[in-house]
Amino acid sequence: MTPPSASQDAPAAGAAALHIQPVPAFRDNYIWLLERGGRVAVVDPGEAVAVLQLLAAHQWRLDTILLTHHHNDHVGGVSDLVRAHPARVFGPANSPFDAIDVRLREGDTVAVLGTTFSVMTVPGHTLDHIAYWSAEQAAVFCGDTLFACGCGRLFEGSAAQMAASLGRLGGLPGDTRVYCAHEYTLSNLRFALAVEPGNTDLQQRREDCVELRERGLPTVPSTIALERATNPFLRCEVPAVQAAARNHRPDALGTPADPVGVFGVLRGWKDRY
Ligand code: ZN
Ligand code: FE
Repeated sequence: MTPPSASQDAPAAGAAALHIQPVPAFRDNYIWLLERGGRVAVVDPGEAVAVLQLLAAHQWRLDTILLTHHHNDHVGGVSDLVRAHPARVFGPANSPFDAIDVRLREGDTVAVLGTTFSVMTVPGHTLDHIAYWSAEQAAVFCGDTLFACGCGRLFEGSAAQMAASLGRLGGLPGDTRVYCAHEYTLSNLRFALAVEPGNTDLQQRREDCVELRERGLPTVPSTIALERATNPFLRCEVPAVQAAARNHRPDALGTPADPVGVFGVLRGWKDRY
């Protein structure tokens, strides 16, 4: 008798799932580690030690390093990693960091452990900032551009650039998981609740995140849908957010308020919050 044909749900031979885990670094950074079948990619390795320990403990091989922007807490571990592993380093085309093998522009794709990531240029926090989005994995690695319930500071770009970048990330499918590079969520939630105290999704999110942190767990990844519902920087067109911005800086906004102006007021308010 011939055996029944393999179920359509069964994974193809040799296809292992992609595992994604945070590697805590410094005070509040997350280096994201992707592993499939013993091969590894890391995103924004600001330091090498913890990654090298994990690679050694599991006998994993580091293939790929993805960089979102040039800040040292995101690139500082690259030289030690490539000394120990023959990994290819991908990063922004216009990065001042020089140890990049493949320089990426808007719309470029990168094959990582059998998954394709699309490159989005998302300037604002820095001018070289990019994000890596995979539709297949429903995941985006967005560095210091979009944070859980917040966004990065404007070190190099303008409010208009950052607002546009956040608008693009916010336009990804709602189920996209948001892998940002810092655990800033509780402080971001305090600010978000000052902006929108009546937002019940936000109140619920604070409860959930306080509980996660009490248990020592990360609050990330979140999802684009949750960010759209709770992140004030993605909600510059919401009347309650506009009213709060106007109340904070009565002289700064015209009528009707333009979303970039609202974003600028919120970012300045958060910088001093
Ligand atoms: Zn940064
Ligand atoms: Fe950072």
